[in-house]
Amino acid sequence: MIYPLSRYIKITQIYWSNHLGVDFGWNDGPYCNQPIVAIEDGIVVSCADGYGNTYPGQRIYGNYVCISHGDGYWSMYGHLLKGLTVRQGERVRKGQVVGYMGNSGYSNGQHLHFELRKGENRKAASIDPIDYLFVEDPTIYVNPNSKQIERIRYRKTTVGTPVGRDPSRNQVEILATTLNARNMPSLDGDRLGYITRGIYNVLGTSEANGFTWYEIEKGLFCASKEGDWTVFLPAAAAPKYTVVFPEVTNGDKVTLCQLGDKLSLKYEVTEV
Ligand SMILES: [Zn+2]
Repeated sequence: MIYPLSRYIKITQIYWSNHLGVDFGWNDGPYCNQPIVAIEDGIVVSCADGYGNTYPGQRIYGNYVCISHGDGYWSMYGHLLKGLTVRQGERVRKGQVVGYMGNSGYSNGQHLHFELRKGENRKAASIDPIDYLFVEDPTIYVNPNSKQIERIRYRKTTVGTPVGRDPSRNQVEILATTLNARNMPSLDGDRLGYITRGIYNVLGTSEANGFTWYEIEKGLFCASKEGDWTVFLPAAAAPKYTVVFPEVTNGDKVTLCQLGDKLSLKYEVTEV
């Protein structure tokens, strides 16, 4: 199942005993009125349209769509704008737009109230949707300030292509399986997915949000505080020189001298 939002995911109220769904968004400027999509294939079993904001009235969900997905799963999308794009009885496909984020019904800010239920009918017990939803489209913007950000899961779990060990380069080895990749060296960057385990060249480092950020591919960044999930692999030290002295006989003179910024041995033979 995918997230019910097509452009922007921000969780503003979690599922708990007095709120049997998840709220997404809250008066989010450019993302207001964003399309709401079906989380899975299914059939629209009920819906309501044509309502405005009734806060603090009793038409709780305002304009809503309820979809049966089979296997006992039911999803419900509430507070939509007037003008749903589906009708009762219609078969819908996963990702199909069913309406637009609104502020209808018992709501005092534009957001989506989303519920997932499991059981024999649409009044079945609610379950926490976040355990079932995956982000499949990495271009969807996930607000990093969402309180539940760590629970948001990506179907395309891995990005990045590891390289082989190259002792002449600074590299990191990513050991964790759930290290986030971002498109900029900051928690404000978009999450692109998890980084494929393996060794990467370090193209650059910077500091932000209390982390050291590594650019491991062009435009691909990850952060580390302590490095329990990474092994920093520094470039090998310059090769050591083996010096073989010519045969020195009594009276020869050997001097150590500086040539440029390199320490070199100069060998002179002085005739006695
Ligand atoms: Zn809600």
